[in-house]
Amino acid sequence: MSELVTNLARVRERMARAAARAGRNHEDITLVAVSKTRPAETIREAYHAGVRHFGENRVQEWESKQAALSDVDATWQLIGHLQSNKARRAAGLFHSVDSVDSVALAQKLNSALADMASEGSGKISLGVLIELRVSPEETKTGVEEEDLPALVEAVLTLPHLELRGLMCVPPFFDDPEKARPFFRRLREARDALRSHLGSKFLRPGGESFLAELSMGMSHDFEVAIEEGATQVRVGSAIFGARTA
Ligand SMILES: *Cc1c(COP(=O)(O)O)cnc(C)c1O
Repeated sequence: MSELVTNLARVRERMARAAARAGRNHEDITLVAVSKTRPAETIREAYHAGVRHFGENRVQEWESKQAALSDVDATWQLIGHLQSNKARRAAGLFHSVDSVDSVALAQKLNSALADMASEGSGKISLGVLIELRVSPEETKTGVEEEDLPALVEAVLTLPHLELRGLMCVPPFFDDPEKARPFFRRLREARDALRSHLGSKFLRPGGESFLAELSMGMSHDFEVAIEEGATQVRVGSAIFGARTA
């Protein structure tokens, strides 16, 4: 077995054990393999090993790899910060943008999709997650908690964006247990939005409003699963340490 296959089995086992501890069904948790800095052949190998969701953090990098993987039927997700001036390209390249953090960016993505739809490209909607800034670090991205409800309401009015949930990137701690309050904060922010906006946007199956919580990376995804993650973003635990 290749190292990647072994690593993948280990990650899936860690996911299953964390889910069991939390009394959750491990099938409700999606593994998003973070393939930034990895070449197309490695991504293809992960696909053959069963991975169906991939996360990339830069538009340009994915643009350069995409052609070599056009036959691979996977879900490609942008998990890194997106500048408004690259929104149009991102809208065409990804199935979802998981780092939406402003109304302006959401509007740019929506209008890009509107244009693509009218050109008959076949693509009429884009999945989005809203990134909440849970970290006190200045450099970290995401919308501030006080601005979150307004952003959610704005995204819900944009017909080409399909709002699926929330995402966060806590600060790095050697002890993953220290990330727990940040993961909990994302879940509680989602629960608060559900009770504030739920009645307004209630429809059959309304309990799935903001169903997705994307949180947890290689060193802390078990804690994230215990706190309700539905998508974990795992890079180095699958592909090995990044050199870049
Ligand atoms: C790189 C990255 C990850 C994966 O990090 P690992 O520690 O390699 O698992 C997850 N989320 C985001 C936003 C990233 O940029």
